[in-house]
Amino acid sequence: MNFDQAPLLVIWEVTQACDLACVHCRASAQPDRHPNELTTEEGYRLLDQIRTFGDPLMVFTGGDPLKRPDIYSLIRYSAGIGLRTNVTPSATPLLTAEAIERFKENGVNRMAISLDGPDAATHDDFRGIPGTFDRAMFALRHAQKIGLDTQLQTTVTRRNMAKLPQVAEIAREVGTKMWSLFFLIVTGRAAEADDLQAEEYEQVFEFMYNLSKTAPFGIKTTEAMHYRRYVAQRMKDEHTTRPESENARSVAWRTAGVSDGKGFVFVSHTGEIFPSGFLPITAGNVLHDSLTDVYRNSELFRSLRDTDLREGKCGICEYKKICGGSRSRAYALTGDYLAADPRCVYQPHLVDAMVG
Ligand code: SF4
Repeated sequence: MNFDQAPLLVIWEVTQACDLACVHCRASAQPDRHPNELTTEEGYRLLDQIRTFGDPLMVFTGGDPLKRPDIYSLIRYSAGIGLRTNVTPSATPLLTAEAIERFKENGVNRMAISLDGPDAATHDDFRGIPGTFDRAMFALRHAQKIGLDTQLQTTVTRRNMAKLPQVAEIAREVGTKMWSLFFLIVTGRAAEADDLQAEEYEQVFEFMYNLSKTAPFGIKTTEAMHYRRYVAQRMKDEHTTRPESENARSVAWRTAGVSDGKGFVFVSHTGEIFPSGFLPITAGNVLHDSLTDVYRNSELFRSLRDTDLREGKCGICEYKKICGGSRSRAYALTGDYLAADPRCVYQPHLVDAMVG
């Protein structure tokens, strides 16, 4: 895909309202809906704009999308105009069997459910409300029963990194199609003490890579673009094109090059256009700007796509075209969205040459 023209993924945060109080919530969600959320009609117009990109994956997120009474109409409209449509509900009492069935009936392709640990103690501690683990498990099992594809989402932190193998067992048990590991960005309610150090990222990458050779589900990262560098390095080291390694590579490569503002765009509950939900710099608002124009032509998005503008080691790295580092993390930890990703251990060869 030409990411200068269209994103692979469009995320619309339909609301910030949510009945959970997750410790790492990007949106610092609260129970009540914001009065300036996009209306249903504005939502339809937004979906029409998204369709003009071609065939991006459309994700309804929140907050909790189920806090919007018109969520099924929006999903139906999205699927009706031909968008592949995913939804990421929160595991609250609103996520009933009927709600899951209505997702499917109205055209949801895949429902993503967060699971941050393999047991109630770990998961509920993250999510701030007892019973959330059981509800998430119920939702995953009910989706499996009615034939709705699921994606498991795990926020990786120092609290749960040792328990990832057990979460993988659950992913296998519930027949999920994709396990998406989200690497913390210190924004919203997320605390820096929970963030992994660069070496710990490599440990998790090793676990993911080895698992992905045999797992019956895909494994991908969010905000850890350097996993693609890790996969490329491992395949080179192994001198291999063995089928199991190909399996690991193919999922990682499906998103090669995608990063904040490059193959990715986020629309907030009030219509603000961001390169990512974790990079709080807006380039316009869908109420008075064209989403396609902002994505293709705004200075912010163009600079994020130009890997030659990267600073520090990301700017001279031989992996910058497939990786480029997390711009959200660079911004969160340094205040400069073009700076090097501070959580990458890799030293580009050019750095070696300059030092040596
Ligand atoms: S130095 Fe930057 S571009 Fe290179 S692998 Fe690390 S994060 Fe990616």
